[in-house]
Amino acid sequence: MGGQHISMPAPVEQIIDKLGEKGFEAYAVGGCVRDTLLGRKPGDWDITTSASPWQVKEIFRRTIDTGIRHGTVTVMMGKIGYEVTTYRIDGEYEDGRHPKQVVFTSDLLEDLKRRDFTINAMAYSHKTGIVDAFGGIQDLEGRVIRCVGDPMERFGEDALRILRAIRFCAQLDFSIEEKTCASIVQIAPSIARVSKERIQAELTKLLLSDHPERISMVYDTGISPYISPAFAGLCRQSFFVPAGLPSEKYARWGAFLRQAGQETAAQVLKDLKMDNDTISRVKILAKHAGREMKPEEAKVRRAMSGMLPEVWDVLVRLNDWGEEISRLTDEIRRRGDCLDLKRLAIGGQDLIEAGVRPGKELGRILELLLEQVLECPEKNNREALLELAKKEAFGITKSCGN
Ligand code: ATP
Ligand code: MG
Repeated sequence: MGGQHISMPAPVEQIIDKLGEKGFEAYAVGGCVRDTLLGRKPGDWDITTSASPWQVKEIFRRTIDTGIRHGTVTVMMGKIGYEVTTYRIDGEYEDGRHPKQVVFTSDLLEDLKRRDFTINAMAYSHKTGIVDAFGGIQDLEGRVIRCVGDPMERFGEDALRILRAIRFCAQLDFSIEEKTCASIVQIAPSIARVSKERIQAELTKLLLSDHPERISMVYDTGISPYISPAFAGLCRQSFFVPAGLPSEKYARWGAFLRQAGQETAAQVLKDLKMDNDTISRVKILAKHAGREMKPEEAKVRRAMSGMLPEVWDVLVRLNDWGEEISRLTDEIRRRGDCLDLKRLAIGGQDLIEAGVRPGKELGRILELLLEQVLECPEKNNREALLELAKKEAFGITKSCGN
């Protein structure tokens, strides 16, 4: 690497050029420069400029006030918006979370200095080339995460950076530079001041990365007790995530928590303010993880029932149930076997018409019918099920020879 050319999306060049025509500096900055240099596709292109937010709004026709207090204006180019942020110095940090005040500056270097890691503190424009004031390129080559400036100070300002460091290691397959790492170990307790939602977001990005097993770093660095007691208490044998698992939040958390048991798994996620849908999916995975599954149709049907199809597929992978179970799954789906009350050939209304009283008893009978159908899909027709239901409800059987 060196003074090379980065190819940027045309709208990004246009924004930079337009600001340039008006006498302002502007650069692509941060994650997009890092990712492009690594040959990865950037998620988004952020622009940093010497123009004030008000000047940016004057120069471009279509803008949105995204975070104008922090200097960010979104410039719309066609249907795509690009965040343009004024060079700034983050003031003192009040609580390890939010800068007390934001001060704008006309000095690019000041703006780069406030950024967390050297690899995230590079700027680029097609006119100037790469601005790399802190050895970002060297650290990309050495594959290390290193703080800009004094690591103790930087983690002290914002403890979320601790988790960002670990998350970037997992995403990029990097390691943490020695002094930066020693500071993390030393300042670990300050992670307790970071909001659980932000912690969760970082851990989720980590688990969704190519190296989810790097979550072990959260334990090795000693920060886990300051995340949550349930999280800290997890046993470490399931950090390995099986191959072929989809890159979905519930699947990755499910893999990570698969040996914790349902209740602990749910506790960890609640501590981290996880959404309820993910919690319920992970609970199902934790409940069935580690179980054996005999390749028998009725057993597979029964296990599949009451589980979302995609959750079942993840479970098959997690438990390494193999070819035969996958084949049976496909067959059951192809035939459209009844797997839940929705698909049962009769419903509650039919039973009420047959004289069963609504309520608990009715629910019990429906469940029993489903059981039968899971065992034996041929039974999923009105006549057979009604007869079964009546027998169950009233002890009546049809006369012989019907
Ligand atoms: P990705 O978008 O892939 O998660 P990114 O590097 O773009 O990675 P963002 O959170 O989008 O990360 O932030 C954009 C840039 O802002 C970063 O590259 C970094 O320069 C700076 N930045 C973000 N969060 C912090 C922070 N907590 N402390 C200091 N600088 C930060
Ligand atoms: Mg980004």
